[in-house]
Amino acid sequence: MNKDNVLKWLELFAEKIIENKDYLSDLDTAIGDGDHGTNMARGVTEVMKALEDKKPETVTDIFKLTAMTLISKVGGASGPLYGSAFMGMTKTSMTTDDLVEILSSGLADIQKRGKAVSGEKTMIDIWVPVIEALKNGELTAEKIKTFAEATKDLKATKGRASYLGERSIGHIDPGAVSSAYLFETMLEAGV
Ligand code: ADP
Ligand code: MG
Ligand code: MG
Repeated sequence: MNKDNVLKWLELFAEKIIENKDYLSDLDTAIGDGDHGTNMARGVTEVMKALEDKKPETVTDIFKLTAMTLISKVGGASGPLYGSAFMGMTKTSMTTDDLVEILSSGLADIQKRGKAVSGEKTMIDIWVPVIEALKNGELTAEKIKTFAEATKDLKATKGRASYLGERSIGHIDPGAVSSAYLFETMLEAGV
């Protein structure tokens, strides 16, 4: 992990989110309030602007600026949750450049904030298996897609989708898909 591949990662992530903005909002229309694509697109656009303006020089500073921007510019559940993820990654990146350790710390902070565990049909259902596969040296783009698809069969017990109870079953979780994009682009950027 270095400054260049982390910047590449965020750039590819921003592109992917913007390209799929309508799809993410459609997924959220089915089980939420239909704004996940708009929320995330606003967030990544602001992150790109902030990186351009401030030109952070280290991986830690890049993650920190990303976290602060997402927290301050994105409404809804996803802003603070992704912000927490990048804040956790910020802290750990000060002492290691090990990707598994850094992502684990991001996951821990999402969970500290949102209190979700595996199986509740949230972005956690991507973070957990991705980190596990990465640990075993077997993470692929294919697998990431499978993890996102698998949220379809789950019943939501956290976030807005939980208001639907059983009726949330049969729909893919929008936050799981945006997190899938985060990890697909991480592989593409060679982080
Ligand atoms: P909102 O629900 O406030 O409109 P978004 O639509 O942007 O916010 O984000 C919804 C996504 O946030 C969900 O699809 C889910 O993945 C994620 N999410 C919601 N609550 C939690 C939670 N407590 N922990 C982890 N992820 C959550
Ligand atoms: Mg929403
Ligand atoms: Mg909302």
